[in-house]
Amino acid sequence: MATKRTPSFDSHNPATGEVVGTYPIVSGKQVVEIVSHAREASHQWEKLGFNGRKKVLLAWSSLIIRRIDQIAALISLETGKPLSDAKLEVSIAVSHLGWAARHAEEIMRTSYRAPGLLMANMSATVQRSPLGVVGVIGPWNYPIFTPVGSISYALAAGNTVVFKPSEFTAGVGVWLEETFNEVAPFADIFTTITGLGETGGALCTSGVDKLSFTGSTRTAKLVAAQCAATMTPVVLECGGKDPVIVAADANLARAVDATMWSAMANAGQSCIGAERVYADEKVADKFIELAVELAQTIHAGAPGDGNYGPATMPSQIKVIQSHIKSAIKDGGTCAYGGSASVQPPFVQPVILLDVPENSAAMREETFGPIIIINRVKNMQEAIELANASTYGLGANVWSKHQGKRIAGKLACGMVAINSTFSFAAIASVPFGGVKDSGYGRVHGPEGLLEYTYARTVVRTRFNLPIKFLSFKRRPKDDTLVITLTKWLKGRLG
Ligand code: NDP
Repeated sequence: MATKRTPSFDSHNPATGEVVGTYPIVSGKQVVEIVSHAREASHQWEKLGFNGRKKVLLAWSSLIIRRIDQIAALISLETGKPLSDAKLEVSIAVSHLGWAARHAEEIMRTSYRAPGLLMANMSATVQRSPLGVVGVIGPWNYPIFTPVGSISYALAAGNTVVFKPSEFTAGVGVWLEETFNEVAPFADIFTTITGLGETGGALCTSGVDKLSFTGSTRTAKLVAAQCAATMTPVVLECGGKDPVIVAADANLARAVDATMWSAMANAGQSCIGAERVYADEKVADKFIELAVELAQTIHAGAPGDGNYGPATMPSQIKVIQSHIKSAIKDGGTCAYGGSASVQPPFVQPVILLDVPENSAAMREETFGPIIIINRVKNMQEAIELANASTYGLGANVWSKHQGKRIAGKLACGMVAINSTFSFAAIASVPFGGVKDSGYGRVHGPEGLLEYTYARTVVRTRFNLPIKFLSFKRRPKDDTLVITLTKWLKGRLG
Protein backbone atom coordinates (compact mmCIF):
# COMPACT_ATOMS: atom_id res chain seq x y z
CA MET A 1 0.00 0.00 0.00
CA ALA A 2 1.38 3.42 -0.94
CA THR A 3 2.14 5.66 2.02
CA LYS A 4 1.69 9.39 1.87
CA ARG A 5 5.13 10.96 1.46
CA THR A 6 6.20 13.46 4.11
CA PRO A 7 6.72 16.82 2.40
CA SER A 8 10.35 17.87 2.46
CA PHE A 9 12.71 20.59 1.30
CA ASP A 10 16.37 20.74 0.33
CA SER A 11 19.23 22.66 1.82
CA HIS A 12 21.85 23.86 -0.68
CA ASN A 13 25.50 24.78 -0.84
CA PRO A 14 25.10 28.45 -1.86
CA ALA A 15 28.51 28.50 -3.56
CA THR A 16 27.58 25.72 -6.01
CA GLY A 17 23.81 25.34 -5.75
CA GLU A 18 24.31 21.64 -5.02
CA VAL A 19 21.80 19.94 -2.66
CA VAL A 20 23.49 19.10 0.66
CA GLY A 21 20.54 17.82 2.67
CA THR A 22 16.82 17.06 2.60
CA TYR A 23 14.65 17.71 5.64
CA PRO A 24 11.00 17.13 6.49
CA ILE A 25 8.54 20.00 6.57
CA VAL A 26 7.08 19.67 10.04
CA SER A 27 3.33 20.38 9.89
CA GLY A 28 1.38 22.68 12.18
CA LYS A 29 -0.25 19.66 13.87
CA GLN A 30 3.15 18.08 14.51
CA VAL A 31 4.45 21.37 15.94
CA VAL A 32 1.62 21.38 18.49
CA GLU A 33 2.43 17.77 19.48
CA ILE A 34 6.14 18.53 19.80
CA VAL A 35 5.42 21.58 21.96
CA SER A 36 3.15 19.48 24.16
CA HIS A 37 5.96 16.91 24.66
CA ALA A 38 8.32 19.76 25.43
CA ARG A 39 5.85 21.02 28.03
CA GLU A 40 5.74 17.62 29.75
CA ALA A 41 9.55 17.53 29.77
CA SER A 42 9.77 21.08 31.13
CA HIS A 43 8.59 20.04 34.62
CA GLN A 44 11.34 17.44 34.95
CA TRP A 45 13.95 19.79 33.45
CA GLU A 46 13.03 22.47 35.95
CA LYS A 47 13.18 19.95 38.80
CA LEU A 48 16.72 18.99 37.79
CA GLY A 49 17.79 22.29 39.34
CA PHE A 50 20.56 24.66 38.35
CA ASN A 51 23.37 22.20 39.05
CA GLY A 52 21.75 19.37 37.16
CA ARG A 53 21.10 21.60 34.15
CA LYS A 54 24.57 23.08 34.33
CA LYS A 55 26.10 19.60 34.07
CA VAL A 56 24.04 18.80 30.97
CA LEU A 57 24.73 22.14 29.29
CA LEU A 58 28.46 22.00 30.00
CA ALA A 59 28.57 18.43 28.68
CA TRP A 60 26.86 19.71 25.51
CA SER A 61 29.37 22.54 25.29
CA SER A 62 32.28 20.06 25.59
CA LEU A 63 30.75 17.86 22.91
CA ILE A 64 30.35 20.80 20.52
CA ILE A 65 33.97 21.83 21.15
CA ARG A 66 35.19 18.25 20.51
CA ARG A 67 33.27 18.22 17.24
CA ILE A 68 34.07 21.77 16.19
CA ASP A 69 35.56 20.60 12.87
CA GLN A 70 32.39 18.70 12.02
CA ILE A 71 29.94 21.51 12.83
CA ALA A 72 32.16 24.20 11.28
CA ALA A 73 32.28 22.16 8.05
CA LEU A 74 28.49 21.90 8.04
CA ILE A 75 28.05 25.64 8.72
CA SER A 76 30.50 26.42 5.93
CA LEU A 77 28.68 24.04 3.57
CA GLU A 78 25.22 25.49 4.23
CA THR A 79 26.15 29.18 4.42
CA GLY A 80 29.20 29.31 2.13
CA LYS A 81 31.29 31.11 4.76
CA PRO A 82 35.00 30.30 5.19
CA LEU A 83 35.78 27.46 7.59
CA SER A 84 37.75 29.72 9.93
CA ASP A 85 34.76 32.09 10.25
CA ALA A 86 32.55 29.10 11.01
CA LYS A 87 34.96 27.96 13.74
CA LEU A 88 35.03 31.43 15.28
CA GLU A 89 31.24 31.44 15.28
CA VAL A 90 31.14 28.08 17.09
CA SER A 91 33.67 29.31 19.68
CA ILE A 92 31.56 32.36 20.50
CA ALA A 93 28.38 30.25 20.64
CA VAL A 94 29.89 27.85 23.20
CA SER A 95 31.14 30.75 25.28
CA HIS A 96 27.52 31.91 25.59
CA LEU A 97 26.39 28.38 26.38
CA GLY A 98 28.95 28.04 29.18
CA TRP A 99 28.20 31.50 30.57
CA ALA A 100 24.47 30.89 30.68
CA ALA A 101 24.96 27.51 32.37
CA ARG A 102 27.31 28.95 35.00
CA HIS A 103 25.39 32.14 35.79
CA ALA A 104 21.73 31.12 35.65
CA GLU A 105 21.47 30.37 39.38
CA GLU A 106 22.93 33.68 40.49
CA ILE A 107 20.82 35.67 37.99
CA MET A 108 17.60 33.93 39.06
CA ARG A 109 18.34 34.03 42.79
CA THR A 110 15.44 35.41 44.84
CA SER A 111 16.02 39.09 45.45
CA TYR A 112 15.05 40.95 48.60
CA ARG A 113 13.53 44.41 48.23
CA ALA A 114 12.99 47.24 50.71
CA PRO A 115 9.29 47.17 51.79
CA GLY A 116 9.10 50.92 52.49
CA LEU A 117 7.89 52.70 55.60
CA LEU A 118 4.18 52.01 55.27
CA MET A 119 4.82 48.27 54.83
CA ALA A 120 7.79 48.06 57.20
CA ASN A 121 6.32 44.95 58.81
CA MET A 122 6.56 43.02 55.55
CA SER A 123 9.39 41.21 53.83
CA ALA A 124 9.34 41.74 50.05
CA THR A 125 10.94 39.27 47.69
CA VAL A 126 10.99 38.58 43.97
CA GLN A 127 11.39 35.01 42.83
CA ARG A 128 12.19 33.95 39.27
CA SER A 129 10.72 30.93 37.52
CA PRO A 130 11.21 29.53 34.03
CA LEU A 131 8.34 30.15 31.62
CA GLY A 132 7.91 26.56 30.47
CA VAL A 133 8.49 26.08 26.74
CA VAL A 134 10.40 28.62 24.67
CA GLY A 135 10.15 28.69 20.87
CA VAL A 136 13.21 29.90 18.99
CA ILE A 137 13.15 30.91 15.32
CA GLY A 138 16.63 31.37 13.92
CA PRO A 139 18.25 32.94 10.88
CA TRP A 140 20.77 31.56 8.40
CA ASN A 141 23.56 34.13 8.63
CA TYR A 142 25.00 32.85 11.95
CA PRO A 143 23.18 29.53 12.23
CA ILE A 144 24.81 28.46 15.51
CA PHE A 145 25.80 31.69 17.25
CA THR A 146 22.42 33.40 16.90
CA PRO A 147 20.04 30.62 17.99
CA VAL A 148 22.36 29.41 20.75
CA GLY A 149 22.21 32.96 22.13
CA SER A 150 18.55 32.23 22.90
CA ILE A 151 18.52 28.43 23.27
CA SER A 152 21.29 28.19 25.88
CA TYR A 153 19.89 30.99 28.06
CA ALA A 154 16.35 29.59 27.87
CA LEU A 155 17.56 26.08 28.77
CA ALA A 156 19.80 27.30 31.59
CA ALA A 157 16.83 29.17 33.08
CA GLY A 158 14.92 25.87 33.21
CA ASN A 159 12.77 25.98 30.08
CA THR A 160 12.57 23.39 27.38
CA VAL A 161 13.09 24.67 23.84
CA VAL A 162 11.59 24.01 20.41
CA PHE A 163 13.81 25.45 17.68
CA LYS A 164 12.92 26.23 14.08
CA PRO A 165 16.11 26.94 12.10
CA SER A 166 16.09 28.82 8.81
CA GLU A 167 15.36 26.58 5.83
CA PHE A 168 18.81 27.57 4.49
CA THR A 169 20.60 26.10 7.50
CA ALA A 170 18.34 23.26 8.60
CA GLY A 171 21.30 20.86 8.82
CA VAL A 172 22.97 22.95 11.51
CA GLY A 173 19.70 23.01 13.47
CA VAL A 174 19.35 19.23 13.27
CA TRP A 175 23.00 18.79 14.31
CA LEU A 176 22.35 20.90 17.41
CA GLU A 177 19.42 18.72 18.43
CA GLU A 178 21.29 15.48 17.77
CA THR A 179 24.33 16.50 19.80
CA PHE A 180 22.16 17.81 22.64
CA ASN A 181 20.34 14.48 22.77
CA GLU A 182 23.67 12.65 23.17
CA VAL A 183 24.06 14.32 26.57
CA ALA A 184 20.40 14.85 27.51
CA PRO A 185 19.14 12.98 30.59
CA PHE A 186 15.73 12.45 28.94
CA ALA A 187 13.84 13.31 25.72
CA ASP A 188 12.13 16.52 24.56
CA ILE A 189 14.28 19.06 26.40
CA PHE A 190 15.53 20.54 23.14
CA THR A 191 13.85 19.76 19.83
CA THR A 192 14.56 21.08 16.35
CA ILE A 193 11.68 21.33 13.91
CA THR A 194 12.56 21.77 10.25
CA GLY A 195 10.40 23.41 7.64
CA LEU A 196 9.66 26.64 5.81
CA GLY A 197 8.06 29.87 6.99
CA GLU A 198 4.75 28.12 7.78
CA THR A 199 6.44 25.84 10.30
CA GLY A 200 7.81 28.95 12.00
CA GLY A 201 4.32 30.44 11.90
CA ALA A 202 2.91 27.30 13.50
CA LEU A 203 5.45 27.59 16.31
CA CYS A 204 4.19 31.12 17.03
CA THR A 205 0.63 29.90 17.63
CA SER A 206 1.53 26.52 19.18
CA GLY A 207 1.14 27.68 22.76
CA VAL A 208 4.85 28.19 23.55
CA ASP A 209 5.32 30.50 26.53
CA LYS A 210 7.67 32.85 24.71
CA LEU A 211 8.97 33.16 21.18
CA SER A 212 12.49 34.36 20.49
CA PHE A 213 12.91 35.44 16.87
CA THR A 214 15.94 36.58 14.89
CA GLY A 215 15.57 37.66 11.28
CA SER A 216 14.15 40.45 9.19
CA THR A 217 11.96 43.25 10.52
CA ARG A 218 9.32 42.29 7.98
CA THR A 219 9.03 38.73 9.31
CA ALA A 220 9.39 39.95 12.91
CA LYS A 221 6.17 41.94 12.48
CA LEU A 222 4.38 38.83 11.17
CA VAL A 223 5.74 36.80 14.10
CA ALA A 224 4.64 39.43 16.63
CA ALA A 225 1.16 39.60 15.05
CA GLN A 226 0.79 35.80 15.08
CA CYS A 227 2.00 35.62 18.69
CA ALA A 228 -0.41 38.38 19.75
CA ALA A 229 -3.37 36.08 19.00
CA THR A 230 -2.30 33.75 21.81
CA MET A 231 -0.76 36.47 24.04
CA THR A 232 2.62 34.82 23.48
CA PRO A 233 5.35 37.29 24.44
CA VAL A 234 8.21 37.79 21.98
CA VAL A 235 11.85 38.79 21.83
CA LEU A 236 12.60 40.25 18.42
CA GLU A 237 16.16 40.57 17.13
CA CYS A 238 15.84 42.16 13.73
CA GLY A 239 18.00 43.85 11.20
CA GLY A 240 20.10 46.97 11.40
CA LYS A 241 21.78 49.68 9.37
CA ASP A 242 24.70 50.05 11.70
CA PRO A 243 26.60 53.33 11.52
CA VAL A 244 30.33 53.79 12.07
CA ILE A 245 31.37 57.19 13.36
CA VAL A 246 34.95 58.19 12.64
CA ALA A 247 36.21 61.21 14.57
CA ALA A 248 39.17 63.35 13.54
CA ASP A 249 41.24 61.84 16.37
CA ALA A 250 40.55 58.20 15.37
CA ASN A 251 43.25 55.66 14.77
CA LEU A 252 42.45 55.42 11.06
CA ALA A 253 44.41 52.27 10.29
CA ARG A 254 42.51 50.35 12.95
CA ALA A 255 39.19 51.98 12.12
CA VAL A 256 39.48 51.04 8.44
CA ASP A 257 40.62 47.50 9.16
CA ALA A 258 37.75 46.82 11.57
CA THR A 259 35.10 48.63 9.51
CA MET A 260 35.93 46.82 6.30
CA TRP A 261 35.86 43.50 8.13
CA SER A 262 32.62 44.40 9.84
CA ALA A 263 31.04 45.35 6.49
CA MET A 264 32.40 42.56 4.30
CA ALA A 265 33.03 39.50 6.49
CA ASN A 266 30.33 36.85 6.16
CA ALA A 267 29.56 38.48 2.79
CA GLY A 268 28.10 41.45 4.69
CA GLN A 269 25.35 39.26 6.10
CA SER A 270 25.65 40.41 9.70
CA CYS A 271 22.86 42.23 11.48
CA ILE A 272 25.53 44.23 13.35
CA GLY A 273 27.72 44.69 10.29
CA ALA A 274 28.86 48.19 9.34
CA GLU A 275 26.67 49.58 6.54
CA ARG A 276 27.29 53.36 6.64
CA VAL A 277 30.29 55.38 7.77
CA TYR A 278 30.15 58.99 8.92
CA ALA A 279 33.73 60.22 8.74
CA ASP A 280 34.86 63.64 9.94
CA GLU A 281 35.71 65.59 6.78
CA LYS A 282 39.19 66.25 8.19
CA VAL A 283 40.07 62.55 7.94
CA ALA A 284 37.53 61.22 5.41
CA ASP A 285 39.91 61.25 2.40
CA LYS A 286 42.53 59.26 4.28
CA PHE A 287 39.87 56.84 5.56
CA ILE A 288 38.62 56.29 1.98
CA GLU A 289 42.14 55.83 0.62
CA LEU A 290 42.93 53.17 3.23
CA ALA A 291 39.56 51.48 2.70
CA VAL A 292 40.13 51.21 -1.07
CA GLU A 293 43.65 49.85 -0.48
CA LEU A 294 42.22 47.19 1.80
CA ALA A 295 39.35 46.33 -0.57
CA GLN A 296 41.93 45.57 -3.27
CA THR A 297 43.29 42.76 -1.10
CA ILE A 298 40.00 40.97 -0.38
CA HIS A 299 37.64 39.04 -2.58
CA ALA A 300 34.58 36.83 -2.42
CA GLY A 301 34.89 33.15 -3.27
CA ALA A 302 33.96 29.65 -2.24
CA PRO A 303 35.27 28.46 1.16
CA GLY A 304 39.02 27.95 0.85
CA ASP A 305 39.26 30.59 -1.86
CA GLY A 306 37.55 33.82 -0.80
CA ASN A 307 37.96 36.06 2.24
CA TYR A 308 34.23 35.67 2.45
CA GLY A 309 31.67 33.52 0.70
CA PRO A 310 28.59 33.89 -1.51
CA ALA A 311 25.26 35.43 -0.58
CA THR A 312 23.70 32.59 1.40
CA MET A 313 20.18 33.44 0.29
CA PRO A 314 20.05 33.81 -3.53
CA SER A 315 17.23 36.38 -3.43
CA GLN A 316 19.47 38.77 -1.45
CA ILE A 317 21.51 39.42 -4.60
CA LYS A 318 18.62 41.46 -6.01
CA VAL A 319 18.51 43.67 -2.91
CA ILE A 320 22.27 44.26 -3.07
CA GLN A 321 22.13 45.06 -6.78
CA SER A 322 19.22 47.47 -6.31
CA HIS A 323 20.99 49.30 -3.46
CA ILE A 324 24.13 49.84 -5.56
CA LYS A 325 21.99 51.14 -8.43
CA SER A 326 19.91 53.45 -6.26
CA ALA A 327 23.01 54.82 -4.50
CA ILE A 328 24.49 55.82 -7.87
CA LYS A 329 21.20 57.07 -9.31
CA ASP A 330 20.68 59.22 -6.21
CA GLY A 331 24.07 60.90 -6.62
CA GLY A 332 26.58 58.63 -4.89
CA THR A 333 29.86 57.55 -6.48
CA CYS A 334 31.82 54.32 -6.47
CA ALA A 335 35.25 54.44 -4.85
CA TYR A 336 35.73 50.74 -5.39
CA GLY A 337 33.66 48.24 -7.37
CA GLY A 338 30.09 48.89 -8.44
CA SER A 339 27.26 47.09 -10.18
CA ALA A 340 29.74 44.80 -11.95
CA SER A 341 30.88 43.55 -8.53
CA VAL A 342 27.66 41.56 -8.31
CA GLN A 343 28.64 38.18 -9.78
CA PRO A 344 26.03 35.74 -8.46
CA PRO A 345 26.29 33.95 -6.14
CA PHE A 346 29.21 36.19 -5.13
CA VAL A 347 29.44 39.92 -4.57
CA GLN A 348 32.91 41.46 -4.66
CA PRO A 349 33.63 44.38 -2.28
CA VAL A 350 31.93 47.68 -3.05
CA ILE A 351 32.76 51.08 -1.52
CA LEU A 352 30.31 53.90 -2.23
CA LEU A 353 30.79 57.56 -1.37
CA ASP A 354 28.59 60.55 -0.61
CA VAL A 355 25.26 58.74 -0.96
CA PRO A 356 22.30 60.98 -0.04
CA GLU A 357 20.67 60.06 3.23
CA ASN A 358 17.28 59.52 1.60
CA SER A 359 18.59 56.89 -0.82
CA ALA A 360 17.27 53.33 -0.26
CA ALA A 361 20.93 52.30 0.02
CA MET A 362 21.25 54.50 3.13
CA ARG A 363 17.89 53.67 4.66
CA GLU A 364 17.39 49.94 4.12
CA GLU A 365 19.42 47.01 5.33
CA THR A 366 21.63 45.85 2.44
CA PHE A 367 23.04 42.67 3.99
CA GLY A 368 25.83 42.56 1.43
CA PRO A 369 29.58 43.38 1.26
CA ILE A 370 29.01 47.06 0.65
CA ILE A 371 30.09 50.04 2.67
CA ILE A 372 28.93 53.61 2.17
CA ILE A 373 31.23 56.38 3.38
CA ASN A 374 29.76 59.86 3.86
CA ARG A 375 31.61 62.93 5.11
CA VAL A 376 30.37 64.99 8.06
CA LYS A 377 31.36 68.44 9.32
CA ASN A 378 31.53 67.43 12.96
CA MET A 379 30.55 64.76 15.43
CA GLN A 380 27.18 66.36 16.17
CA GLU A 381 26.20 65.88 12.53
CA ALA A 382 27.48 62.28 12.65
CA ILE A 383 25.35 61.56 15.72
CA GLU A 384 22.24 63.10 14.17
CA LEU A 385 22.63 61.15 10.93
CA ALA A 386 23.42 57.92 12.78
CA ASN A 387 20.22 58.35 14.80
CA ALA A 388 18.06 59.31 11.81
CA SER A 389 17.70 55.65 10.82
CA THR A 390 14.54 53.64 11.46
CA TYR A 391 16.90 50.97 12.78
CA GLY A 392 18.79 51.08 16.07
CA LEU A 393 20.76 47.88 16.55
CA GLY A 394 24.52 48.49 16.96
CA ALA A 395 27.05 51.22 16.24
CA ASN A 396 30.80 51.71 16.18
CA VAL A 397 32.67 54.83 17.26
CA TRP A 398 36.31 55.49 16.41
CA SER A 399 37.91 58.21 18.49
CA LYS A 400 40.76 58.49 20.98
CA HIS A 401 39.01 60.92 23.32
CA GLN A 402 35.33 61.29 22.45
CA GLY A 403 34.18 57.66 22.31
CA LYS A 404 32.07 57.53 25.47
CA ARG A 405 30.51 60.94 24.89
CA ILE A 406 29.42 60.02 21.37
CA ALA A 407 28.30 56.51 22.40
CA GLY A 408 26.03 57.98 25.07
CA LYS A 409 24.10 59.92 22.44
CA LEU A 410 23.39 57.07 20.05
CA ALA A 411 19.86 55.69 19.75
CA CYS A 412 20.76 52.02 19.55
CA GLY A 413 21.14 48.91 21.68
CA MET A 414 24.91 48.40 21.53
CA VAL A 415 27.97 50.53 20.79
CA ALA A 416 31.58 49.40 20.34
CA ILE A 417 34.20 52.10 20.86
CA ASN A 418 37.42 51.55 18.89
CA SER A 419 36.24 48.05 18.08
CA THR A 420 33.56 46.23 16.14
CA PHE A 421 31.26 43.24 16.85
CA SER A 422 32.92 42.79 20.26
CA PHE A 423 29.73 43.20 22.32
CA ALA A 424 28.33 40.08 20.63
CA ALA A 425 31.20 38.02 22.03
CA ILE A 426 30.89 39.32 25.61
CA ALA A 427 28.40 36.96 27.21
CA SER A 428 27.73 39.19 30.21
CA VAL A 429 26.20 42.08 28.24
CA PRO A 430 22.75 42.20 26.64
CA PHE A 431 22.37 42.15 22.86
CA GLY A 432 19.43 43.72 21.05
CA GLY A 433 18.11 46.88 19.51
CA VAL A 434 15.52 49.62 19.51
CA LYS A 435 13.09 50.90 16.85
CA ASP A 436 12.83 48.60 13.80
CA SER A 437 15.73 46.53 15.13
CA GLY A 438 13.38 44.91 17.61
CA TYR A 439 12.80 44.66 21.32
CA GLY A 440 13.79 42.48 24.21
CA ARG A 441 17.33 41.26 24.75
CA VAL A 442 19.39 38.11 24.36
CA HIS A 443 22.68 37.40 26.19
CA GLY A 444 23.75 38.50 29.66
CA PRO A 445 21.50 38.65 32.72
CA GLU A 446 18.88 40.64 30.82
CA GLY A 447 18.80 37.98 28.10
CA LEU A 448 18.43 35.15 30.60
CA LEU A 449 15.67 36.93 32.50
CA GLU A 450 13.68 37.17 29.24
CA TYR A 451 12.99 33.45 29.67
CA THR A 452 11.72 33.76 33.23
CA TYR A 453 8.86 35.47 34.96
CA ALA A 454 8.96 37.41 38.18
CA ARG A 455 6.88 36.21 41.10
CA THR A 456 6.55 38.78 43.85
CA VAL A 457 6.15 37.23 47.30
CA VAL A 458 5.54 39.49 50.31
CA ARG A 459 5.20 38.13 53.84
CA THR A 460 4.00 39.63 57.11
CA ARG A 461 6.95 39.56 59.53
CA PHE A 462 5.04 41.08 62.44
CA ASN A 463 1.65 42.71 62.90
CA LEU A 464 1.38 46.46 63.29
CA PRO A 465 -1.17 47.96 65.67
CA ILE A 466 -2.57 49.98 62.74
CA LYS A 467 -4.76 48.45 60.07
CA PHE A 468 -4.61 49.91 56.57
CA LEU A 469 -5.84 47.01 54.51
CA SER A 470 -8.97 46.21 56.40
CA PHE A 471 -12.55 47.36 56.84
CA LYS A 472 -11.49 47.91 60.45
CA ARG A 473 -9.39 50.89 59.45
CA ARG A 474 -9.96 53.69 61.98
CA PRO A 475 -9.92 57.50 61.52
CA LYS A 476 -6.64 57.67 63.47
CA ASP A 477 -5.06 55.20 60.99
CA ASP A 478 -6.11 57.51 58.14
CA THR A 479 -4.67 60.49 59.99
CA LEU A 480 -1.37 58.65 60.48
CA VAL A 481 -1.06 57.80 56.76
CA ILE A 482 -1.86 61.36 55.68
CA THR A 483 0.53 62.85 58.24
CA LEU A 484 3.31 60.50 57.19
CA THR A 485 2.62 61.17 53.51
CA LYS A 486 2.88 64.94 54.06
CA TRP A 487 5.87 64.70 56.35
CA LEU A 488 7.84 62.38 54.06
CA LYS A 489 6.61 64.17 50.90
CA GLY A 490 5.11 60.94 49.56
CA ARG A 491 8.20 58.79 50.15
CA LEU A 492 6.36 55.98 51.88
CA GLY A 493 7.37 53.25 49.44
P1 NDP B 1 13.33 36.00 7.61
O1 NDP B 1 13.18 37.02 8.66
O2 NDP B 1 12.24 35.81 6.66
O3 NDP B 1 13.65 34.58 8.28
C1 NDP B 1 14.09 34.40 9.61
C2 NDP B 1 13.43 33.16 10.18
O4 NDP B 1 12.01 33.32 10.23
C3 NDP B 1 13.66 31.90 9.34
O5 NDP B 1 13.81 30.80 10.21
C4 NDP B 1 12.38 31.81 8.56
O6 NDP B 1 12.12 30.50 8.12
C5 NDP B 1 11.37 32.22 9.58
N1 NDP B 1 10.10 32.65 9.03
C6 NDP B 1 9.81 33.08 7.78
N2 NDP B 1 8.51 33.40 7.67
C7 NDP B 1 7.94 33.17 8.88
C8 NDP B 1 6.64 33.33 9.41
N3 NDP B 1 5.63 33.78 8.69
N4 NDP B 1 6.42 33.01 10.70
C9 NDP B 1 7.43 32.57 11.46
N5 NDP B 1 8.69 32.39 11.02
C10 NDP B 1 8.95 32.69 9.74
O7 NDP B 1 14.66 36.32 6.91
P2 NDP B 1 15.11 35.94 5.47
O8 NDP B 1 15.86 34.70 5.58
O9 NDP B 1 14.01 35.99 4.47
O10 NDP B 1 16.07 37.18 5.17
C11 NDP B 1 15.54 38.40 4.71
C12 NDP B 1 16.29 39.58 5.27
O11 NDP B 1 16.24 39.58 6.68
C13 NDP B 1 17.77 39.59 4.99
O12 NDP B 1 18.00 40.08 3.75
C14 NDP B 1 18.28 40.48 6.07
O13 NDP B 1 18.11 41.81 5.69
C15 NDP B 1 17.38 40.16 7.23
N6 NDP B 1 17.96 39.21 8.17
C16 NDP B 1 18.43 39.67 9.35
C17 NDP B 1 19.01 38.81 10.24
C18 NDP B 1 19.55 39.29 11.54
O14 NDP B 1 20.49 38.71 12.05
N7 NDP B 1 18.97 40.30 12.14
C19 NDP B 1 19.17 37.40 9.96
C20 NDP B 1 18.58 36.99 8.71
C21 NDP B 1 18.01 37.88 7.87
P3 NDP B 1 12.54 30.10 6.62
O15 NDP B 1 13.99 30.40 6.47
O16 NDP B 1 12.26 28.66 6.61
O17 NDP B 1 11.67 30.92 5.70
